[in-house]
Amino acid sequence: MSKIETNVLPPMNQIWSQTLNWQPSDAQEQLFQQIYQEVLEGNRQQNLTRITSPEDFWEKHLWDSLSGIIALEEILAHQLQIIDVGTGAGFPGIPLAIAFPHWRITLLDSTRKKITFVNDLIAKLQLNNATGIVARAEELGRIPGDRASYDLALVRAVSKPSVCAEYSLPFVKKGGLAILYRGHWSDEDTAGLAAAATQLGGKIELIHRWETPLSKGIRHCIYLRKDSTTAKKFPRAVGIPEKQPL
Ligand code: SAM
Repeated sequence: MSKIETNVLPPMNQIWSQTLNWQPSDAQEQLFQQIYQEVLEGNRQQNLTRITSPEDFWEKHLWDSLSGIIALEEILAHQLQIIDVGTGAGFPGIPLAIAFPHWRITLLDSTRKKITFVNDLIAKLQLNNATGIVARAEELGRIPGDRASYDLALVRAVSKPSVCAEYSLPFVKKGGLAILYRGHWSDEDTAGLAAAATQLGGKIELIHRWETPLSKGIRHCIYLRKDSTTAKKFPRAVGIPEKQPL
């Protein structure tokens, strides 16, 4: 098989519709393919992802990014402000910006090289609803205009659950959601996260468990509803949430 053939995403329209009741348009499929090419290319310059085979990339980056959101049917049509905290190479934020062009998505990462990649990708894909920002969540989460300003804050593969809650909940407007994308999840995790969320002005509203369609990996999304203002002392100074998790 030639190199070009191996770098093509598999056709997955049937699985998209069967699992998420959603299907990309031809244009969206082309953009997904373009993300894949750009991430493979970017991987030569920096360590963006270890997930590089076409099936893995489709399942663990594209499908996974959308699967955390598409269950929330009641919000899909609304115009939402979203922040993806610790976006890395742009997941879950970039696939969501493609799938939901009426949303406005901020992609946040503390590593400048990652955001340079993300902003180049946004320009190449001509996505006018997404912007990358270099900052620490602990700092941006204190800035008016970002604090308590988003309908959804998403965090995938960044840190322990209570750290993710401290990074994300300060960004969320009252009534909005922080969504933690996780793999395995236990009752112990629920108890720890519930205690941290209460301190941050949120509560666990829903824990959604499902399997990925190809490799049958276990996924959980934890939906934290922000029901009161986050106290001024949160997020704590840079590095403290990670060193002394709530
Ligand atoms: N969310 C992406 C994904 O699921 O593919 C990337 C996950 S990567 C393992 C974690 C990212 O979080 C890294 O790019 C790192 O720079 C970023 N990160 C970690 N702590 C952060 C913080 N306090 N503020 C902003 N970004 C942070």
